[in-house]
Amino acid sequence: MRRRDLFKTVLAAPVLSAAAQDQVAKRTNGLPPLTIKDVKIITTSGGRNYRWVFLKIITSEPGLYGIGSANDIYQTAALISALEKNLKPWLIGKDPSKIEDLWHSANYKTYWRGGPVNNKVLGAMDEALWDIKGKRAGMPVYELLGGKAHDAVACYDHVSGRSHENAAEVVAKSFESGYRHIRLQYGEGGYGGGGFYPAGKGERAEQGYQGPAFDEDLYVQTIPKVFEYVRSKVGFEPKLLHDVHSHLGGPNAMLFSKKIEDSMLYFVEDILGPENLGWYKEIRKVSATPQAVGEVFSNTAEYYPLIAERLINFIRCRVTAIGGITPAKKLAHLCEVFGVKTAFQEGGENDPVNQLAAYHVDLSSTAFGIQEENHFPPSVHEMMPGTAQIRRGYMYGSGKPGLGIDIDEALAAKYPITEPKNGGAYPTDRSLGGTVVTP
Ligand code: MG
Repeated sequence: MRRRDLFKTVLAAPVLSAAAQDQVAKRTNGLPPLTIKDVKIITTSGGRNYRWVFLKIITSEPGLYGIGSANDIYQTAALISALEKNLKPWLIGKDPSKIEDLWHSANYKTYWRGGPVNNKVLGAMDEALWDIKGKRAGMPVYELLGGKAHDAVACYDHVSGRSHENAAEVVAKSFESGYRHIRLQYGEGGYGGGGFYPAGKGERAEQGYQGPAFDEDLYVQTIPKVFEYVRSKVGFEPKLLHDVHSHLGGPNAMLFSKKIEDSMLYFVEDILGPENLGWYKEIRKVSATPQAVGEVFSNTAEYYPLIAERLINFIRCRVTAIGGITPAKKLAHLCEVFGVKTAFQEGGENDPVNQLAAYHVDLSSTAFGIQEENHFPPSVHEMMPGTAQIRRGYMYGSGKPGLGIDIDEALAAKYPITEPKNGGAYPTDRSLGGTVVTP
């Protein structure tokens, strides 16, 4: 055939017949082609003080959509803008079945990658795409990730004691309620509690900072004794956890890990901030206390040396913050190879979609260790049917295809998010001399 005739033939070729399309579908995944028709950003306070941002990806198949979380209580407006202005125009028209490809191309399309805003945009997209994939397959997402590796997802409870006696009481109460894993914090100071001088007390600079002041030495002297007392009262059956919230520097992190060793903690969380990861090698040399790290990580690459060199025991990141289910399952695989466990982060301001994203990775991984608990009020269960339930220390999903959750958009719209106070800033702790303490 001459070249000109070939062009004529190609130009005249009709769109594939239904039978031919069916053949193509059978050679791929047995399903007709799918495109992303629309993308919606849904914001809601959930009837409380939440500042939730959800992404809804709507496909060309009638009624088929997916939901992802882009929740960020501190920089909510930045997330909304990045989703609306940058992700949405790029995503419409693409094939939602290509999760891996879309994740990578979205990761590189901002040129500068990583960071909480970019990765939460990726997380929202990725979770919504897995939701679509599961709904289309008629299976919960964990089935697509390898199926159940355990019966349910164990969660740890949060308790805080005001005194040694009270700490033992609240741990015993939580254990009786069905939790085997219990995170114990101490004192009135929030994170770092047990290490604060009250406002105006201690040696202050003239005209200097007078608020509650954190002192590393005081903290290291106080907290291990609390756990020693609690162990003497409740024994070793409850698995105890503690969150330092990055309040210590390297030498005190080493000392704390040594002093608390005999209380046999399930893990100590974030004993150091991400600025000080090099000290984990030194901690490992002096203490067997299990270390959980990474609540504020957004770049999974920060984990690779910590996992591969077995310097930590648990990863503590939030699934949405690292870019969603796709990177979370890869991290879980890496953890499995090196004997590290997952302990995905939850916490008060977190949302039910992110919680379920973690649940599906947890349920399908033998590297699963524990998940942080997060309870939602009845208004949220009503607004988001399929929200996971926690009963006697275990989390249960709805069992429905996809992530297993939906959102009532009319109800969500009844609860608009409000402008954050103080720009949405996380509170700052300071030392006696007024220096900022790592949160
Ligand atoms: Mg934490």
